[in-house]
Amino acid sequence: MRIAVIGAGVVGLAAAHALADDGHDVTVIDREGPAAGASRGNAGWLAHTDIDPIASPNMLRQVPGFLLDPLGPLAIRARYLLPILPWLTRLILASRPAQFARSVEALVSINALAMPAWDTLSTRLGMGAMIHRRGALFVFDTVARYEAGRVKATRQRAFGIPVDTLGPHELRQMEPGLSNALAGAAYYPSAAHVSDPRLVTEALFAAAGLRGIGFARATASAIATEGGLRVVCEGRDHIPADRVVIAAGAWSRPLALGLGDRIPLDTERGYNVSFPGADTQIARPVAFDGHGFVATPLATGLRIGGAVELAGLHLPPNHARTRALHTKATRFLRDVPAFETGTVWMGFRPCIPDSMPVIGHAAASRHVVYAFGHGHYGLTQSAATAGLVADLIAGRTPPIDLSPFSPTRF
Ligand SMILES: Cc1cc2nc3c(=O)[nH]c(=O)nc-3n(C[C@H](O)[C@H](O)[C@H](O)COP(=O)(O)OP(=O)(O)OC[C@H]3O[C@@H](n4cnc5c(N)ncnc54)[C@H](O)[C@@H]3O)c2cc1C
Repeated sequence: MRIAVIGAGVVGLAAAHALADDGHDVTVIDREGPAAGASRGNAGWLAHTDIDPIASPNMLRQVPGFLLDPLGPLAIRARYLLPILPWLTRLILASRPAQFARSVEALVSINALAMPAWDTLSTRLGMGAMIHRRGALFVFDTVARYEAGRVKATRQRAFGIPVDTLGPHELRQMEPGLSNALAGAAYYPSAAHVSDPRLVTEALFAAAGLRGIGFARATASAIATEGGLRVVCEGRDHIPADRVVIAAGAWSRPLALGLGDRIPLDTERGYNVSFPGADTQIARPVAFDGHGFVATPLATGLRIGGAVELAGLHLPPNHARTRALHTKATRFLRDVPAFETGTVWMGFRPCIPDSMPVIGHAAASRHVVYAFGHGHYGLTQSAATAGLVADLIAGRTPPIDLSPFSPTRF
């Protein structure tokens, strides 16, 4: 079948490969090129061990404190407060204990597919060296946070996630580049990270070209279902297809709306600063619990960033936030390069209020499949999502229950 995949981010490209594996004639459509969106500059974690949705009772408890600090882990730009209110209401509802428990189960199911799917994809495409398997750390700067981390670790172990808790001495031995001020850590030995998310996405794109997957640089404005399925593109001929996959990240909402699906997709913007070529000081990714940022030792240099800003797709970035993250990092990491020597970036996480992606058929046509809304974990879940998309298109029974990811769940 001819399949058009809209979006050359990590999700769309992984899907294109899975569909080519099934023998389809695939064309990827992107208005810019590969890795133009969130897949370009993210933190690079393959964080299949993170099984807690952002929408959680714990998050709700922390929000008031976060909002008091305009440069803290969570901010809402005043001009975006009104537009984001319905989404926020859904987030609060999804944070209730019963929904939280259902979301954890769903995330456990998709995350269990994530590493095996990445292993298969990266091995098949000769990209194995781009996956670094050194685990990941969540570090705690107070004893209270450390104790809460131990409770969380017990819960995670019950879901089969390997996690070790480390005291300050063991942590220093593992990562001498971290400050002495830390109370301990949770170590996830099976977590991994990529050499650089942009390079990985570009490698997927290059490999796609080599195996005959087509590319069209075009802006998709709609999917026409009457009179033959096709992608309607701005200023150029429509692209006919037998099946269409929408993987346009944070920009997918209007395309789904055109098909009658009102999906509550918005963006949680994230910021970071990277120091290309700088000695990374740390051997594995580190998350600073309660502070909303992470540090990743990419092959291309140290990257520090994170945070969530609710400000939609159009307001300009506020890199005072990036500077604030950098300042915080200097408290916990030794020898962080000066902010001015780094490269700043802002990306648009495609976020659904219940913290789960949308993977399923469009209401208007079973010939259109959605694969977007992966929020904080799109790199992690991309290869797994790709397999699920291929299953939906082939009519195979997927290995997990897809109802928690259904576009009709809202
Ligand atoms: C600061 C930050 C840190 C992160 N860290 C991690 C992490 O460590 N691990 C992890 O798993 N995830 C992480 N994420 C999340 C991850 O980056 C995203 O979930 C993931 O990249 C989404 O991929 P995507 O392919 O769905 O979307 P994108 O990468 O945004 O790609 C969408 C593509 O669609 C194209 N497009 C959009 N609209 C159209 C249109 N109408 N026509 C044609 N083309 C279109 C765009 O040009 C773009 O190339 C992070 C995100 C941020 C912002």
